Amino acid sequence: MYLTRDGFSPSEFRAIGRAELAAYGTVEVREAEAVAAKATANGFEVRLADGTREEARKILLATGQVDTFPAIDGLVERFGKCVFHCPFCHGFESKGKPLAVLGGDFVSGVLSLYLADRFSADVVLCTNGTAALPKELMEKLRTRGVAVREDPVTAVRGVLDDLTVVFERGSELRRGALFHKTAIEQHSALAADLGCESFEDGCVRIDEFQQTTVPGVFASGDLARQASFPEALTFVTLGAADGARAAIKIDNELFRADADITPPATR
Ligand SMILES: Cc1cc2nc3c(=O)[nH]c(=O)nc-3n(C[C@H](O)[C@H](O)[C@H](O)COP(=O)(O)OP(=O)(O)OC[C@H]3O[C@@H](n4cnc5c(N)ncnc54)[C@H](O)[C@@H]3O)c2cc1C
Repeated sequence: MYLTRDGFSPSEFRAIGRAELAAYGTVEVREAEAVAAKATANGFEVRLADGTREEARKILLATGQVDTFPAIDGLVERFGKCVFHCPFCHGFESKGKPLAVLGGDFVSGVLSLYLADRFSADVVLCTNGTAALPKELMEKLRTRGVAVREDPVTAVRGVLDDLTVVFERGSELRRGALFHKTAIEQHSALAADLGCESFEDGCVRIDEFQQTTVPGVFASGDLARQASFPEALTFVTLGAADGARAAIKIDNELFRADADITPPATR
């Protein structure tokens, strides 16, 4: 989903980015976890896991989120290979395949309907023992031909195009691929450390220039969203756009501060 990089592996994408950065003498890449950050009189101090400290006038957080999974044998190791979380990332590639959706919540019900509408006439919703779907949604699933299996799932086996969902009672379901909307949480506690406000879903609150609620701290990519977005829009293109927007704003603020320029009042 990144023009000129279709089908690239994430590691290849990152390697190209690193190689391009290496051409800029003003950029230093440090292979170290940032373990703590705090405001100081002149800006911020970031402590790294290797024991060193860095000072900065501004901070751009880009630490992402991590996916969390229910305890189902074989699920985690198949994530991204034949277990997918996002129909925009893997829907086209799943076209025409028998699909399953794992999850008993409203979002999983809607995801099943969406996949049935866009990509496959054979979709089974596996609620994993948590049948809490509203009647109306159940009726829509029935009308759209989405079968619902309510018994708990114990394991996922196999590979893409030959995947097996194993149920607690011993029965099995053969599928081409499985979709599961993972729960997500912040990868790092740095935003919280710095006092940045977050939404209930855990995303860091930002404005349209990627500014968090703490002046001088910006955030880009999966970890943050604006109040007007119902959830984080987690795509590489959008993360890159966030980063560009933040960079322009940060550079502009630094320049104006150094040059002592006060913007005229806007009407
Ligand atoms: C299976 C899967 C398939 C996907 N497919 C697509 C796709 O086809 N197209 C698409 O556009 N998007 C896709 N996405 C989404 C895409 O991967 C994310 O939107 C994107 O990676 C977000 O970038 P990010 O920089 O915000 O976060 P990340 O990519 O998560 O990067 C954050 C980085 O920060 C590092 N980090 C975290 N904490 C610290 C710390 N304290 N100190 C130092 N470093 C730290 C992490 O190690 C990581 O390297 C997919 C996601 C998944 C899980």
